[in-house]
Amino acid sequence: MSVTIRIDHAKKQFGANTVIPDLSLNIRQGEFFTLLGPSGCGKTTLLRMIAGFNSIEGGDFYFNGRRINDLDPAKRNIGMVFQNYAIFPHLTVRKNVEFGLENRKMSKAEKAALSDEFMKLVHVDAYADRMPDRLSGGQQQRVALARALVIKPDVLLMDEPLSNLDAKLRNQMRAELIKLRSRIDTTFIYVTHDQTEAMTLGDRIVIMRDGFIQQIGTPQEVFNHPTNLFVAGFIGTPQMNFFHNAKLVKKDGEYAVDLLGRHIVLDAERQKVLKGRNEPEHELIVGIRPVHLTIAEKGLPATIDVSEMMGSEMHLHLNVEGQDVIAIIPTAGLSLDAVRSGSQTHFDFDPSLMHLFDPETEKNLF
Ligand code: ATP
Repeated sequence: MSVTIRIDHAKKQFGANTVIPDLSLNIRQGEFFTLLGPSGCGKTTLLRMIAGFNSIEGGDFYFNGRRINDLDPAKRNIGMVFQNYAIFPHLTVRKNVEFGLENRKMSKAEKAALSDEFMKLVHVDAYADRMPDRLSGGQQQRVALARALVIKPDVLLMDEPLSNLDAKLRNQMRAELIKLRSRIDTTFIYVTHDQTEAMTLGDRIVIMRDGFIQQIGTPQEVFNHPTNLFVAGFIGTPQMNFFHNAKLVKKDGEYAVDLLGRHIVLDAERQKVLKGRNEPEHELIVGIRPVHLTIAEKGLPATIDVSEMMGSEMHLHLNVEGQDVIAIIPTAGLSLDAVRSGSQTHFDFDPSLMHLFDPETEKNLF
């Protein structure tokens, strides 16, 4: 049965190195929760603390309100799947899956029936008697998944489980995990540094940096409203464009953004927020996603350095006052002559899609 997880002021040190200084987090029952962040930010460390494999230098962990700090890892009813499959090479697929039940008090027949059920669920039942070296990477990872699921875990911890698979298989397994999700009553915690995985799989995502939480939200929330520059740059490919030489100004009582020679008066909603806290004028970093730029006759001038045909869309690398700016433009109805590498063009954007960041604090103004 899936559980709620509460992490309260968790702290982790390796010697003098504090990897997680002070982290608090609530994960809902049955949620697919993704830990996302660059290499070394502490994702695996946090996962191992939840599993009970790492010592804890501070804070408390709760499953369904029960403190588990001192609960033996084997008694936490956790399933785990790792990047490197970690299945036993000397055991058949069936034996590997049954191994998950090794410490359970149940008859051989019960173990066999459960293993069958989960081999079927992840589509490895046809290979039940094969040795792992005769399986593809994707099949091996399914076996690892079946072994983790066969115990009907309260929590399923997955640490980059798809990163050893090629792109096509990764997409396929991702879709299968989404399907599997509705058939299994467990709380999923999934570690990845791949934002596409986090966005497609997670009900909610926590974005971490250097052991600190940057933002927690649904994929849509973190995409549409990144809380700071780091999240804005980390979520979305190609990366959000950042314009550094912008300014927040107040003229005749109205806030506006001066950007690339334009004076853009902000909408009523943003006016209200800024007026409410009497925001002073200051420098700004303006973020605009590549998909939110359009090619327009009456826009800001740019040179197309490189245009990349991606099929249904084009990625245009624009030179805007010496800065590389990327625009993603749908190809339908587009004159390819107008967007050839080396040609002059103009671009535009909807001002309501600008993200405004304070260069000092790096925080989103809204
Ligand atoms: P990756 O995506 O590369 O797996 P991660 O976000 O999972 O990265 P962690 O593996 O949690 O990061 O590592 C966080 C930090 O803790 C790193 O600086 C790492 O060097 C350090 N660290 C992890 N395990 C140990 C250990 N057993 N002993 C000492 N330092 C460790």
